[in-house]
Amino acid sequence: KSFKELGLVEQLIEACDRLGWKNPSKIQAEAIPHALEGKDLIGLAQTGSGKTGAFALPILQALLEAAAPPVHHSFFACILSPTRELAIQIAEQFEALGSSISLKTAVLVGGVDHVQQSITLGKRPHIIVATPGRLVDHLSNTKGFSLRTIKYLVLDEADRLLNEDFEKSLDEILNAIPRERRTYLFSATMTKKVQKLQRACLRNPVKMEV
Ligand code: AMP
Repeated sequence: KSFKELGLVEQLIEACDRLGWKNPSKIQAEAIPHALEGKDLIGLAQTGSGKTGAFALPILQALLEAAAPPVHHSFFACILSPTRELAIQIAEQFEALGSSISLKTAVLVGGVDHVQQSITLGKRPHIIVATPGRLVDHLSNTKGFSLRTIKYLVLDEADRLLNEDFEKSLDEILNAIPRERRTYLFSATMTKKVQKLQRACLRNPVKMEV
């Protein structure tokens, strides 16, 4: 199947083209049609499968539909990642796919200056990519920042998000994001804890494994 057959708009098909993505990867072909129908998703997929595109493309399409360009809807999606490196890679893919709509992203990870991140948040980015601890820091300490307008939540590498360090932060974040949202959970493995998180966060999800 082509990206067009999955239901993506021309602007995003062109963005894939610019990145040299000729055809959807398996996880993209499975996930994107369900996501565009408004379903929650569970994807059992590894890094390298193209899972970032599988959630980024439907989120960008929803953003375009919610707010025709110039796109003003700030704090539209929140992506949680267990590591700073992964967070940076996810933000880079969003920026590459969203370059034609002047997409703004903020990366909130540890080991980087808080003040600089607060300035980035002040520019009202569309997409936040964060590790849980630093996101909670900003929720408590950055004036005017909240997750009340978030429409899409992605729990990436969910099995790794569920360690003791992150669990308390994760609870706080889930309480700060409205229930009226779509949730996409990606994980390399389906553990008991991931199942519990799935039951707490997702509504009638479509499951896929690649
Ligand atoms: P990910 O699994 O999301 O970390 O993606 C792994 C790599 O595959 C990234 O460098 C992407 O740019 C690339 N990629 C994602 N989707 C496609 C696609 N449909 N065709 C070719 N490369 C892709």
